[in-house]
Amino acid sequence: INTIGVLTSGGDAPGMNATIRAVVRTALSKGKKVVGIKRGYNGLISGDIHEMGSKDVSDIIQRGGTILHTARCLEFIKPEGQKRGAEMCKVFGIDGLVVIGGDGSFKGAEKLAGLGINTIGVPGTIDLDIACTDYTIGFDTAVNTAMEAIDKVRDTSTSHERCSVVEVMGRDAGYIALWCGITNGAEAVLLPEKKNMSQEELIRMIIENRNKGKRHNLIINAEGSSEDSVKLAKKIEEVTGISTRATILGHLQRGGSPSAVDRMHASMMGSIAVDLLCEGKSNRVVAYKEGKYLDYDINEALEMQKSISEKRYDLSKILSI
Ligand code: ATP
Repeated sequence: INTIGVLTSGGDAPGMNATIRAVVRTALSKGKKVVGIKRGYNGLISGDIHEMGSKDVSDIIQRGGTILHTARCLEFIKPEGQKRGAEMCKVFGIDGLVVIGGDGSFKGAEKLAGLGINTIGVPGTIDLDIACTDYTIGFDTAVNTAMEAIDKVRDTSTSHERCSVVEVMGRDAGYIALWCGITNGAEAVLLPEKKNMSQEELIRMIIENRNKGKRHNLIINAEGSSEDSVKLAKKIEEVTGISTRATILGHLQRGGSPSAVDRMHASMMGSIAVDLLCEGKSNRVVAYKEGKYLDYDINEALEMQKSISEKRYDLSKILSI
């Protein structure tokens, strides 16, 4: 391997910059040339590719977002686009590529590996929805951001004796919601992976809670669940007479300075990705499982299934009484 390329793809996540920094500095320490590719696979196809030195990644470990920018690239889903990407790698002499992103980005990496470009995936997404790993870069920061925001909503909701429906991110996964459910002490959590309480059951729980003397009710709704937060809040207010507000946390969950946990894993995973390329490996994804850093074949990783922890889900219910 002579030249290593690095790109960020899919949704951004806090810690992506720390990963880029680790890739660049580890590669430089091994005497490799490094190039940064802008806007995910878009920049690969268009040749938006720039050499990176050690200074280019200074003062970024603490910053959210990604200095390389990220994008979704529809053209790259088609074989034509993938071929153009592989050709551009050859034009720039890129013989190793680190792709920081989620499952979709890894599918693209796998295609490039099939076209002769050594590729390594690093899991970067706030959603934690990558089956081969217990941890994805950005999740820790995002869940802390959501938890702190919900604490604030709870203060005002308790003061006014209101009910709050708070919607958190996660796309089709409920990890942020479940973690907030437990760490914010929610009365109910609605997840895409579970058969949740019906509206009637929720409303009954809220009325029973009021009868028990509870001052507030906090319902965490995952963005991928079947309930619409605003409609649900309206319905609760209509039936119970309790003032109810919907708060959709939205993109604030994607930003901010990465936590120590995210910076540490990002630094380790970025560096391991370069080590793997230098060992001649390709079509692998870096993972963290049961306290160890591992790597899996991308195809194998994409076939794995992930499920919500039953123990944590049960706990969210036990602690909400
Ligand atoms: P996140 O879920 O955190 O947003 P992701 O990587 O899963 O991250 P996607 O939008 O699914 O996000 O994928 C990012 C990019 O990866 C796509 O825009 C596309 O360029 C590429 N990609 C996705 N699926 C494929 C595929 N089947 N083949 C080739 N490339 C793909």
